[in-house]
Amino acid sequence: MAHVVWLDEVGKNDLSIVGGKGASLGEMIKIGIPVPGGFAVTAQAFRDFINRSGIAQELFSALKVDVNDQTQLQLAEDKAKKLIMEAKVPINIEKEIKSRYKELCDREGEIFVAVRSSATAEDLPDASFAGQQETYLNIKGTEAVFNSIKKCWASLYGARAIFYRVEQGFEHEKVNLSAIVQKMVDSEKAGVIFSSQPSTGEPLVVIEGAWGLGESVVSGSVSPDNYEFDRNSRKITHRMIATKEIMVIRDPKTTKTVTVPVPPEKKEAVVLMDNEIVDLARYAEILEKHYGNPQDIEWSIEKGKIYILQSRPITTISKEKKLAEEETEGKVLITGSGASPGVATGVVRIIKGKADLDKIKQGDILVTVMTMPDMVPGMRRAGAIVTNEGGMACHAAIVSRELGCPAVVGTKKATSVLRDGMTITVDGSRGIVYEGHVGLESKTTAAAVGSIAAGVVSKIITATEIKVNISEPLRAQVAAATLADGVGLLRIEHMMLGLGKTPNWYIKNGKTEEYVDELVKGIKTVAEAFYPKPVWVRTLDAPTDEFRAMEGGENEPIEHNPMLGWRGIRRDLTETDHFRLEIRAFKKLHETGLTNVGIMLPMVQHVKELQRAKELIRDENFDLEKIELGIMIETPGAALTIEDFIEEGLDFVSFGTNDLTQYTLAVDRNNENVASLYSEFHPAIIKLIEYVVKRCDKAGVKTSICGQAGSYPEMAKRLVEMGITSISANIDAVATVRETVAREEKILMLRRIRENEV
Ligand code: PEP
Ligand code: MG
Repeated sequence: MAHVVWLDEVGKNDLSIVGGKGASLGEMIKIGIPVPGGFAVTAQAFRDFINRSGIAQELFSALKVDVNDQTQLQLAEDKAKKLIMEAKVPINIEKEIKSRYKELCDREGEIFVAVRSSATAEDLPDASFAGQQETYLNIKGTEAVFNSIKKCWASLYGARAIFYRVEQGFEHEKVNLSAIVQKMVDSEKAGVIFSSQPSTGEPLVVIEGAWGLGESVVSGSVSPDNYEFDRNSRKITHRMIATKEIMVIRDPKTTKTVTVPVPPEKKEAVVLMDNEIVDLARYAEILEKHYGNPQDIEWSIEKGKIYILQSRPITTISKEKKLAEEETEGKVLITGSGASPGVATGVVRIIKGKADLDKIKQGDILVTVMTMPDMVPGMRRAGAIVTNEGGMACHAAIVSRELGCPAVVGTKKATSVLRDGMTITVDGSRGIVYEGHVGLESKTTAAAVGSIAAGVVSKIITATEIKVNISEPLRAQVAAATLADGVGLLRIEHMMLGLGKTPNWYIKNGKTEEYVDELVKGIKTVAEAFYPKPVWVRTLDAPTDEFRAMEGGENEPIEHNPMLGWRGIRRDLTETDHFRLEIRAFKKLHETGLTNVGIMLPMVQHVKELQRAKELIRDENFDLEKIELGIMIETPGAALTIEDFIEEGLDFVSFGTNDLTQYTLAVDRNNENVASLYSEFHPAIIKLIEYVVKRCDKAGVKTSICGQAGSYPEMAKRLVEMGITSISANIDAVATVRETVAREEKILMLRRIRENEV
């Protein structure tokens, strides 16, 4: 059997020769899709290499380990990869590969290539091993290409791949690998296409695109532009232009693949022209028709020419159906509070601190005592999150909901019961963690957020404004796509803690301008996405324990109860240097025209705090007439003295029910032992809210809610009845809250009409 074949010599039935990816590329070439040219080193070449190099026995016995033991698994990977990299490739195979690469260069010119893995199982050639082996981009030169092919072969024995095969019952000896060598598209823009709407299956082509190589879109590290093409009306029905912060490119000097910031003039620029959208949609339709089911396609464009890099069936549409049909059966390992809905299966990674974050690969399950803001980069990659501590309003819960990532918090013992490397299924709706893969029906938050990103939102007009909460500026576009009436809470802690240094570090090191600029940058992304709708930015509210892990946080006081400690406005009013910097940032934003930015003060408990904050704002020559200023109602103290605040003068109040609940009921929101006592529906909380709404309403002060309770339809209903001005919900809850509010408003109107008729 041949060791090397051209891609245009193979087709969809050649899975056992060139694996799924190779067969699909060959098939696309056959039907006239523009696929970059290249060849495949066949599965047979790999098999011959293993057998004839004499490493087979040693290799396969090295793989016989307990795959749930991370140390053993890692040793198996190291040994297997070393064996492959050091083994001599039979000379005829080496010659065939090298001469084929030379022929490719003769055909295409001195080109860079991508070397990709395409795995196949002997008895189940169409088994999917997607994403488990490596890809090497921008490779040039005979030796480098040959070496990358060996690296692809070795990647068949990565820890994750070994683990997966054992879990799925595949024999290592029967899994082969074809290496695909393809002309590298030096793409100016790239992304993915779904030939049908990925969550509903509607005939809408959904296209995502960003600058540079498609890796940034596929890995989710950039917010891409989003376009929709209606296959019935043949029209482009939706365009959402994202702020694209980074791109992956070939460095013109080193020729290495690097991630760089997007040049300022391209950040907000439209990636795809209308004719390109229409052309991409056409290819998507051809592929869906040819394969007989909706396709998930990778595309890229170089010098105006479209290339299709991959096409595979969309799994989400059929998977949801399949999951629903499967039985919900599995061993329950632990339970906790279902803090962010959705279901995910993945491999456990126990995280002790920021230093471990690299362990988390896309889709892994992040397991930790309690998440910290500096863990957010890892949380973005996680398929689900499980914590020992915390309740519905803890950090892990808030961030997970915003990221659309299923989460179970407050399990008490996740880090001791779960082991690194084991596969679990997390049901974030019911708060259950199962052993292994368990089929569960789920309408995930991720799907909800995904459809928001895809622009599937209809806006019902409500008298009560429906706003959205944001912590991560990267989510600004997705949040804006909910068509929310503004941002009711922009938490700046996460963007600031993401810098890794405390505000004091910047102040002590004379880098105050840099700090102000960082604040301006993060807030600007959100304020621009929503302009002219109001964006209420909350001044810093980080407890001392969160600062301690950061550079500059060494001398943070150790507090017995940081939740009741030196945070929010009380800290800013003693560290006025810092508060002044925040005001300077707000002022700068207003000066650049972003007058929709308002200021919200957290943890206020006495009117003196509002008075002092106003003095400092005036002191910075920021005209209070020009800015919306409000306080959060998070302490019973502030709620019960609301008249004093009204008299002092303010534009709005917003209920921070996460804290208001813990302070009213004396229930630590992060303490799983008392989580069952934590309820925003406690009559005392409802009374406090009503007390404040009534008085503010009379005085013409706006009222809002930005605590988690605002995302609960039942609470939304009650708030509408009370007469709240706006409700700010989590991204995934905006649509439901809007519907609930619309219905409740109609009910109230009908009731009034009927009462008048009697
Ligand atoms: C709250 O307390 O309800 C709130 C929104 O603030 P945080 O959750 O950030 O404390
Ligand atoms: Mg709070």
